[in-house]
Amino acid sequence: MCGIVGAVSSKNIVPVLLEGLQRLEYRGYDSCGVAVFHHGALRRARSTQRVAQLATQIDKEGISGHTAIAHTRWATHGAPRTHNAHPHFSSKPGKPPRVAIVHNGIIENHEELRSELEAKGYEFDSQTDTEVIAHLIDDFYTDDLLHAVQAATKLLKGAYAIGVFCREEPHRIIATREGSPLVIGL
Ligand code: GLU
Repeated sequence: MCGIVGAVSSKNIVPVLLEGLQRLEYRGYDSCGVAVFHHGALRRARSTQRVAQLATQIDKEGISGHTAIAHTRWATHGAPRTHNAHPHFSSKPGKPPRVAIVHNGIIENHEELRSELEAKGYEFDSQTDTEVIAHLIDDFYTDDLLHAVQAATKLLKGAYAIGVFCREEPHRIIATREGSPLVIGL
């Protein structure tokens, strides 16, 4: 289990989140990533290198945003490769990404949830247990992210701290935990 950082701000928050990830580097990690809400869409950068390299990539790709989440990963499900790095996205098939999530912990019933979601048409881009949470939240989402997260987390077995935001409510991050630590500041 590694680190998650997320924030909503009136200015570009990405440099602050990168500093947060750097402060968490001592815990060890195999990959890292950041997702933002930018000009009406979700964007992300992910890397299997150090946070400093992720920062260079973010600079080159011009990724910035007032709402963002970031993660350092210690892989438990799925190899330490870029496509398994967090944040993970979810959307209805054929639609642009709607939900972005970072997660620390382990979802024990991810296989059965994955089968149910695949039966509903969700396509998985990773081998992680985390991606099931993203698709579950998307599946429950109608117009209130908090309600969708509450409904989705009722189905999870295991340990988690998660940070989630979505395209329809871009100035809001929902964070919740069960068996993993989480600190929220205002
Ligand atoms: N189980 C998740 C994964 O393998 C989260 C790992 C972590 O806590 O960093 O992606």
